[in-house]
Amino acid sequence: MKLENEMWAYALKNAIEYGRAVVGKVLPKLFNHGLDKKDIGKIMPSLQKIVDEVNKMSVSAREKEFEKFKGFVKEREVVDKMLPDIDISGLNEVVTRIAPEPSKYAHIGHAISFLLNYQYARKYNGKCFLRFEDTNPEKVSQEYVDAMKEDVLNYLGIKVDGVKFISDDMEILYDYARKLIGMNRAYMCFCDRNKMQDLRHKGQACDCRRNSRKNNLDEWKKFVDGKYTKGEAVLRIKGNMKSKNHVMRDSVLFRAIPVKHYRQGDKYKVWPMYDFYNPIEDSLMGVTLILRSNEFDLRIELQDKIKDLLGLRKQKIIQYGRFNVIDFTTQGREIRELVESGELVGWDDPRLITLRALRRRGITKEAIYGLVEQVGLSRHQVNLDFDMIASINRKIIDARAKRYFFVQNPIGLIVNNRPNVSEVELKVHPDFDDTRKLKVGQIYISREDFEEFSGKEIRLLHLFNIQLNRLPNATFTTVDNKDVPRIQWVSDYVDVRIFMPNGNFINGFGDIGLKSLSVGELIQFERFGFCRLDKKEKENKKVVYEFWFTHK
Ligand SMILES: [Zn+2]
Repeated sequence: MKLENEMWAYALKNAIEYGRAVVGKVLPKLFNHGLDKKDIGKIMPSLQKIVDEVNKMSVSAREKEFEKFKGFVKEREVVDKMLPDIDISGLNEVVTRIAPEPSKYAHIGHAISFLLNYQYARKYNGKCFLRFEDTNPEKVSQEYVDAMKEDVLNYLGIKVDGVKFISDDMEILYDYARKLIGMNRAYMCFCDRNKMQDLRHKGQACDCRRNSRKNNLDEWKKFVDGKYTKGEAVLRIKGNMKSKNHVMRDSVLFRAIPVKHYRQGDKYKVWPMYDFYNPIEDSLMGVTLILRSNEFDLRIELQDKIKDLLGLRKQKIIQYGRFNVIDFTTQGREIRELVESGELVGWDDPRLITLRALRRRGITKEAIYGLVEQVGLSRHQVNLDFDMIASINRKIIDARAKRYFFVQNPIGLIVNNRPNVSEVELKVHPDFDDTRKLKVGQIYISREDFEEFSGKEIRLLHLFNIQLNRLPNATFTTVDNKDVPRIQWVSDYVDVRIFMPNGNFINGFGDIGLKSLSVGELIQFERFGFCRLDKKEKENKKVVYEFWFTHK
């Protein structure tokens, strides 16, 4: 069948991005693959069949299947026109990089920086590389590399043009260091940390600065060979000890960290500092454009000096205000301790704003892209809080999340004079045709609702009205819709547990329609909030549906 692969590809993509595939969304894509309008009728039955198949698949099955078909997707996505134009005159091509240090799990602040660099590369048909700045063997690890790859490539869906590890370039970086020493622009310093700090503060040079080039080259060799341990020696640039910019006061370029490196093992004993490897790697990789927050402002002078001394190409740098994450800790060390002590369930704990945590609780990739559009290249500090993310996410998922009933602290009602209704069929979303059938037997509502509306008439959503009397009694009033509070109820139910952002669980009953959900699906519990199905767990012969709360 013509275009079958493309139909699968777009149906799966559509389902992965929006929770379910829709014929009307897949069809227009096929025009980019030569579909003629007059042939729509011919392919419709097959397309409908494929879309139905895809919608029956679990989230993980869709993702697995998409791997087979993704090559058929023609990428003509419009890169958000919301991002302001920037002046790229003078650049042959736009090449950006995403350059995390793999020393923790990436959080929302990182994601914005990653996406700005990625989106501008796309906007100008350029390239974007992922570069792991893994030169501190005490902090970096494979775990964080894997986590960042997962977050950047899978969750954020960033398609990079290459992945690089700075620790693979150590020989090159050593060569550049030797070159600087040979030019008499760097020297070995043996002062202790306090003395160095004190003299830098006073703007005075230490005696080491006067050592000969020959002496420095000899000492550098010993240094690289591991003859000095941590704190005994460093390589410093000859900057300007009187400079107002303290970064220029003979910053350290290399230090001894004789610790096993997760990727290079025991091969290297001395490791470069950020201000040294960063400008060199940017030039080596052909990076032409860097978007970064202005907290690096003072470092530009030093990095430019290094580029000048080594004859390296400069990049266009665009700075934006830094992102200040409110209400959440983003400190790697602090989070690690909380995870290790068991206070947090992991780096994906909903009390965090790591990408892991956001993903697991149901923040969509599109919401993160939306956030980037919203904050853009603001010059001022931007305060980020979860509400900003939630409000963008809500707009996206409200249109597609199926709706169900959840009743916390359920109490079984005794309804007097109840009409003989044994089943109702309800839509799962006002915009979809899908429905679920709910048997009507013993009716449960939440204790909180009962107490709040005690003595009043309420409507059991999509069912009938009752008057709440003394717990647990109620009396049927009418099937007519009246202007009374509407509350959710369940009858035939599954056990539900919801992990809340404060670390507590809420237990209750969910309507039987939940049985059709796959793990990973985002839904809305009416009058409660959005949740993502995290797992179905067998406990004492019953299955508990565990959700993670997304937001209201
Ligand atoms: Zn010294």
